[in-house]
Amino acid sequence: MEKAEKCHVVMYPSPGRGHLMSLVELALSLLRHHPCLAVTVLISSPPHLLPSITPYISSVSSATPSIAFRHLPPSLSSAPTAFSDDPAMYFEFARLNNPNLHQALSELLSASEPSQKPRALVIDFFYSSAAEVAAALDLPTYYFLPAGTNALAAFLYLPTLHKLSTTSFKDLDGNVDIPGLPPIPAKHMPSRMLDRSSRIYGHFLETSTRLAESAGLISNTFEALEPRAVKAISEGLCVPDGRTPPVYCIGPLVAADDHISKHDCLSWLDLQPSRSVLFMSFGSMGVFSSKQLREIAHALEKSGVRFLWVVRNPPPHDEIWRNLAIKPEDDPGVDEILLHGFTERTKDRGLVLKSWAPQVAVLSHDSVGGFLSHCGWNSVMEAVFAGVPMIVWPLYAEQKLNRAYLAWDLKLVLSVAESEGGFVTRDELAGRVTELMSSEKGREVMERAADMRNEARQALSEGGSSRVAMAKLVDSFIKGNE
Ligand code: UDP
Repeated sequence: MEKAEKCHVVMYPSPGRGHLMSLVELALSLLRHHPCLAVTVLISSPPHLLPSITPYISSVSSATPSIAFRHLPPSLSSAPTAFSDDPAMYFEFARLNNPNLHQALSELLSASEPSQKPRALVIDFFYSSAAEVAAALDLPTYYFLPAGTNALAAFLYLPTLHKLSTTSFKDLDGNVDIPGLPPIPAKHMPSRMLDRSSRIYGHFLETSTRLAESAGLISNTFEALEPRAVKAISEGLCVPDGRTPPVYCIGPLVAADDHISKHDCLSWLDLQPSRSVLFMSFGSMGVFSSKQLREIAHALEKSGVRFLWVVRNPPPHDEIWRNLAIKPEDDPGVDEILLHGFTERTKDRGLVLKSWAPQVAVLSHDSVGGFLSHCGWNSVMEAVFAGVPMIVWPLYAEQKLNRAYLAWDLKLVLSVAESEGGFVTRDELAGRVTELMSSEKGREVMERAADMRNEARQALSEGGSSRVAMAKLVDSFIKGNE
């Protein structure tokens, strides 16, 4: 195939805005340097999730004609239960959609113009059973993991660990040894791998095997951040037969925020001194009990730091709803949830936002000098790209594993120490915050963050490791099964 010819790739994200955006961000990033690509994104979202993604799809379609979106017919009528946010359901929903996927891919493959025939299918972790459809159609499958290579190594090594023991990680004391990783406390393995008897564990185990059989693994990271994990995977140390597909470290992928009109919090940041504000945000799903939220508020009062805090309501079963005699949907003011008078007492140095902040724009603002984060991988990439030093407070998914590497091994970030049940006391939090924002140790962490930011920019520059990986990936799409 001539390089000037179009190379058509199909991307197939699992439902939900975050998964869709991750794959589209990958497509946009590849297209920026490889305009020979044409991408079709197949959408399988159940109808109730469509309103949350339609505006995004429209804005990408109009700005980037090389990306086309195609909706698969709904398959819910055949679902054993309605679609839910239960992560096991994502795997099962994928399987239900396989006939529709087969139909859509067959139609695309029957294009009369050879350059319009897809050369590859790129899927995310949850849609792993789509690989069966692609194999039946002789189409190479690539996985995109919006996670780092430490997590990828753990996924690849899961079948080996599964054979070594019959005990769930949640019941094991001591560490797990995974090639390329520091020792990981067994209880800090990705949360969905902790219990062998769960449905989700079975899906993870199956998908871990499939990863090793794919045409390529695409990771949102860069080699200088995780060199040992990249090396271990590439040398085949994480899979039983030593044969691992190529790993493409193409990150950091950071969503451009040009379409966001200026949010009020950015105007507030404009008024704060350079590098003085601690940004506090816990991903798309991070929620705390009312007891923990109040403890955080006490820590902020104690530390005296400037802050921008994204607060979500406590979960529906929290005691606060009974005590206040209201329902979560009544959306009480933040002082009701936090401490009485908190916003008034901290108004000269703090801003509380309900639910959501434009994180990428906030992190790149000059007034932000620190980030208290749940250690979700996209947040890590965004902070590293912006050179903002972090304190991490892992909550779910593979975030504790990310911490074991980033905080305890690499010493790139600071970490809170949790007490029983994951609770973090006001003294602990205030101590870490003060350490990051105004101590010698914090200054060292800031310097390391600045160095890693330079490494990230270098990886993304002409000839840098991530740009080379992108070129190799596109080349592999083009060569396909030739
Ligand atoms: N995010 C945001 N504003 C918020 C919270 C999250 O823009 O208030 C974005 C954040 O920039 C990141 C994503 O949501 O791109 C969260 O991804 P991450 O992997 O960090 O965590 P997850 O939500 O998957 O746990």
